[in-house]
Amino acid sequence: MNKGTTSRVQIDLLSDTATRPSPGMRMAMASAEVGDEQRGEDPTVNALCDRVAELLGKEAAVFLPSCTMCNQISIAVHCHPGDEVIMDALAHPIHFEAGGPSALGGVMIRCVEGLRGIFSADQVQASIRTQDRHAPRSALVWIEQTVNLTGGHCWQLNEIREVLEAARRSNLATHLDGARLFNAVVATNTSASEFSKDFDSVCIDLTKGLGAPVGAVLAGGISFINDAWRLKQRWGGAMRQAGIIAAAGLYALEHNIQQLQQDHENAALFAHIVASHPYVELSEDSVDTNIVILEITHTGFDARLCAQYLMAKYGIRIGTLGPRKIRVVTHLDISNEDTRLAAEAFLEFLSSLE
Ligand SMILES: *Cc1c(COP(=O)(O)O)cnc(C)c1O
Repeated sequence: MNKGTTSRVQIDLLSDTATRPSPGMRMAMASAEVGDEQRGEDPTVNALCDRVAELLGKEAAVFLPSCTMCNQISIAVHCHPGDEVIMDALAHPIHFEAGGPSALGGVMIRCVEGLRGIFSADQVQASIRTQDRHAPRSALVWIEQTVNLTGGHCWQLNEIREVLEAARRSNLATHLDGARLFNAVVATNTSASEFSKDFDSVCIDLTKGLGAPVGAVLAGGISFINDAWRLKQRWGGAMRQAGIIAAAGLYALEHNIQQLQQDHENAALFAHIVASHPYVELSEDSVDTNIVILEITHTGFDARLCAQYLMAKYGIRIGTLGPRKIRVVTHLDISNEDTRLAAEAFLEFLSSLE
């Protein structure tokens, strides 16, 4: 079952989840004050929740093992079984949460087809059901920031505001899946709370660009968080001396947010080096943050072969999205030099195509 190939990986561009805790982060973990988190007695977890609630402009927050659990809990709190959630067709819960919305929340998903994952208020409006005994009840509107599957694209504030207004006009709840919210914060020079404060709930992942080893935080109003806690307990997400991992999250929020700028520069550098190659379909301005997705037009190109070649020859790991697309994700453990090496190795592979 374990598909890991990590022993030979030198430059891991598969995902920003590849980061290892830095020495400073490990020190913070080792010296964390801890208590029983399930009883609300872990001071470090409490400090992390307070910090995130403040950063996101929310009353309260809850620490969870993963952003997937944040998302699933949000759906189950905001919706009744049989309700409908409006989200982009590329959204994370549809593709990577093992069927959770249906298995755990009992909800239906109403997909909208956004542009690079970004949809309009009109599309939301058109997807909201009229009240009718035959139809599911529209309950929740969902935004992902940044949009993972399109290549880390950022919603602008005004785009978010318009969608939230449309949701509110029909009394729908709203959730922001901010797994990479801080990438958008840094890329658009907008504060996290400006993005998040008007949502009913918002979550951030500590294990993506922020570089912590475990954990995510879900924030919202007090009554939402009380309901979320019940599900955390029910689904086995309540922990004990979790301060030891929360300390990594606090450290990340303090030290690793501005660092994301470097990841964005490296992603742009990779795009810049490969974009002019005739087989590469990529406009450099399509790279908003730390994810580069590019399509290769040459008919002899096989993304899997390319990934195998880079791994075998250089220890460079990249992702593939179907037969013609590759995905490169920069993060804390990828230097400028690593980025250059990877881009040049990729060009070398392209030059070997007939
Ligand atoms: C990674 C990711 C998640 C899930 O995060 P985990 O911590 O891996 O469970 C949710 N939403 C988005 C957009 C993500 O990229």
